[in-house]
Amino acid sequence: MPSAAKQAGATVASSRPPALFALFAPAMALPGAGPASAAPLRRLLGRDDVRCLDLLRLAPRAHIDTSPLADLAAATDGQPVTLELEIVAHRDPGDARRPFVTIGRMHGGEVDLCFFGPTKRRLAERLVPGQRYLLHGRLGRFRDRWQMPHPQALPQAPGGRLAVYPAVDGLPQGRLRKLVGAAIERLPEMAEWLEPALLQRHGWPGHAAALLRLHGLESEGGSEPARRRLAFDELLALQIGLALARRHRTALPGRATIGDGALRRRFLATLPFSPTLDQERAAAEIESEIAAPPPMTRLLQGDVGSGKTVVAFLAMLQAVEAGRQAALMAPTEILARQHHRTLAAWAEPLGLEVALLVGGDRAESRERAREALATGAAALAVGTHALFQEGTAFADLALAVVDEQHRFGVEQRLALAGKGYATDLLLMTATPIPRTLVLGLYGDLPVSALRAKPAGRQPIVTRVMPARRQDEVVEACARALAEDARIYWICPSIEASDDGRKAAEERHGELEERFGDTVALAHGRLKPSRRELAMRAFAEGSARILVATTVVEVGVDVPEATVIVIENAERFGLAQLHQLRGRVGRGTRRSACLLLYGPDSSATALERLAVLRGSDDGFEIAEADMRLRGPGEVLGVRQSGLPRLHFADWVADGDLLGHARDEAARLLDADPELASERGASLRLLLHLFEREEALASASPG
Ligand code: ADP
Ligand code: MG
Repeated sequence: MPSAAKQAGATVASSRPPALFALFAPAMALPGAGPASAAPLRRLLGRDDVRCLDLLRLAPRAHIDTSPLADLAAATDGQPVTLELEIVAHRDPGDARRPFVTIGRMHGGEVDLCFFGPTKRRLAERLVPGQRYLLHGRLGRFRDRWQMPHPQALPQAPGGRLAVYPAVDGLPQGRLRKLVGAAIERLPEMAEWLEPALLQRHGWPGHAAALLRLHGLESEGGSEPARRRLAFDELLALQIGLALARRHRTALPGRATIGDGALRRRFLATLPFSPTLDQERAAAEIESEIAAPPPMTRLLQGDVGSGKTVVAFLAMLQAVEAGRQAALMAPTEILARQHHRTLAAWAEPLGLEVALLVGGDRAESRERAREALATGAAALAVGTHALFQEGTAFADLALAVVDEQHRFGVEQRLALAGKGYATDLLLMTATPIPRTLVLGLYGDLPVSALRAKPAGRQPIVTRVMPARRQDEVVEACARALAEDARIYWICPSIEASDDGRKAAEERHGELEERFGDTVALAHGRLKPSRRELAMRAFAEGSARILVATTVVEVGVDVPEATVIVIENAERFGLAQLHQLRGRVGRGTRRSACLLLYGPDSSATALERLAVLRGSDDGFEIAEADMRLRGPGEVLGVRQSGLPRLHFADWVADGDLLGHARDEAARLLDADPELASERGASLRLLLHLFEREEALASASPG
């Protein structure tokens, strides 16, 4: 917890510099922003209080080259081009079905400007014969003449380029350009925050010049280097923010949590297997970081079933050996309960109690768990969000493990860590996160990875088939059931309002007709107790088919399950499918995964399913998913915590990300509190990209 002095410092250090006030003022105050612009601006920028700053960040969709073609003889058919034409005459066809034609002349010949319909015709009639205009459009050849349908009249900006913004009703491009220009004028003088050598190497302009170029308000230089410069600034602000927050945490005096290893040795002796090399390496990395005084923040990545829980439990035992507590937090109650079963079974022979703290519990059992944690009677805890809520206190929480960490917000993870003093934080994810996204989410976070699968894992045969062959699938299930199989049948959400419940209920009904009461149903709208009952019936074998929505997605461990059928697989993300697939192949028998796709599946969707058929490596699959669907989707949840970027693109500018991280580290090593002159301009940068919160931690004091 930051001290009062630090918090006081925070408000001073992170308050907005007056030089930026004008940029943060409402865009409606800009000259030219009439009342009619308010609604379109809100729609365009997606916020109620559009500020000048938001206009700067409105990345153009494209640019129009406004330098006119010198000679019509050099024109190519079908090219978008700008022409400077002198209007010669209008030709009215006298027939509403044929275009109104305005003839223009330039060096090398004449062009027929064609206007279809009465509205466009009125535009044509504004072109005055004898006058010259700058016109942009697609030039085509028709019956030996050059034609340009519906040209766009451009303002005189010879030699430059014009930004084209996403279209929005009620705000013409010309007015938008003026507003952006006026917003840019509100940028204060800012000293350069990047190294001159860096700028030179990439041919990047200064920040303000880059904005002018990107928005087509400066004629010199290309727009791509300008965009890359701004992208780098954006990523640099992000990385400095993340690095500051991290440094703030690791700068706490902290304390060493060193156990004698006794509990860990006894635990390992009870396991029927020995840890894989990857597990051993990860455990060692985590052990030494917990033993060191600075608070740990580490990510443990590993595919479904790669054995993260064992690694996490070893770390938790280290805390207990040191006389302290450890807690494991899961995003759902089902998962928390399952973790609790696993951990309690491991802890029992060691004589340790594991408290379970979930929202759905009766008040008295919750109170009992809280009591045990507050007094220290329970050294270990498993739970959901309830773990970090108001009423929960720990005697001495040394380690917080967060499973499926991306389902929690940063604040939630920190709130849990905040339940102890300098608490070590171990973040786990079964959705391998591509390197660039790790950087984007956490900056320079140390990562332990479990790549090798535990020995004895059975290969999973993956088949991709159209939904119309579902009858065959049902018959295959019948054969598998005859051999004692257990089968997951997963239904996706079809409508936004429905999390798959309808589809699951329907399928459950059908399969029940065929297979009787060995079919259980689990979806998110069921009462937790009923859902739990269904999952338990499946785990114990009294139910042989579990029809479910993605509530089984995370963590469920039923080694006897050997078949998973996934309907409308094209609707799922690859990482999610891979995770679902990992529900099978955990026992001693060969397993199968059947991916059914609907009739409307796109080519990309099928390409994605093919990736899954061809690969069993979660890391590889995550990279492919990011390429095919973009990063937001890869994390599989809307609240992924991935910051929204305006200039940079996670995929296209991935190369800049590592670069920005290194630069952030270098700058902060040289000037940890951003107190130098360069530091002052970096503070402006952080404000420009609204990452100033992290400055609170950089303030001296
Ligand atoms: P994850 O959390 O990474 O999905 P788990 O920790 O739940 O994976 O492990 C999946 C299953 O594999 C569990 O039943 C666990 O006991 C078992 N397991 C873990 N490590 C090993 C190992 N080294 N060898 C064999 N089985 C293992
Ligand atoms: Mg797990």
